[in-house]
Amino acid sequence: MWINNLVMRILVIEDEMQLARHICRALTRGGHEASAKHDGLDGLQSALTEQPDLVVLDLNLPSLDGFSVLARLREANCPSRVLILTARGEVEHRIKGLKAGADDYLAKPFSLDELIARIEALGRRGVAPNAGDLLKVADLQMDVQHRRVTRAGKIIALSPREFDVLQVLLQEPGRVFSRTELCERIWQRDHEYDTRTVEIFITRLRKKVDAHFTLPLIHTLRLVGYTVHA
Ligand code: CA
Repeated sequence: MWINNLVMRILVIEDEMQLARHICRALTRGGHEASAKHDGLDGLQSALTEQPDLVVLDLNLPSLDGFSVLARLREANCPSRVLILTARGEVEHRIKGLKAGADDYLAKPFSLDELIARIEALGRRGVAPNAGDLLKVADLQMDVQHRRVTRAGKIIALSPREFDVLQVLLQEPGRVFSRTELCERIWQRDHEYDTRTVEIFITRLRKKVDAHFTLPLIHTLRLVGYTVHA
């Protein structure tokens, strides 16, 4: 579904027409396919039917706000990565967005170069792909090539970033990864990420991977980091 650094299909959901146009133009210049929708419902519909590689999602939108668009995309198990556009300084929006299933965020106002760099970083996978790899811990299985995760034979729908975090942990079961190391592995030393972001992803993963099973697999070592083991 996700192709490394090739042409990405990107949907921009942004009601500021001029900004949407600038973003699309910059993306097209960068070799990607970009289209824009200017309200939440239209955007949601396009994202669900077209399943683009990436959705750039403004939060403050007419007809349906960005948080609701994001929630519905994730409910529908839409595999698109989602980058939300937040207002500068609104930390709680960033956290709420990540909790709701966003893969990344960018604070407005931003430069187009910054946006393109962020989008291309999202296009790279967090971990070098190893075709055909099957990662396993107890009854949890990850098919790396098809980006599919199951537990006890049941499919677990993960957002792309959740998948990346779990993949890092599953590649070395029992090894403890510090929050900083996870940040670096997933986000390539992007200084804007703090350890709280990792904590949110771990919480999201726990809800999906462990909540319905008696044996927890994702473990926290207080003040040290995270590990996966049976
Ligand atoms: Ca807006």
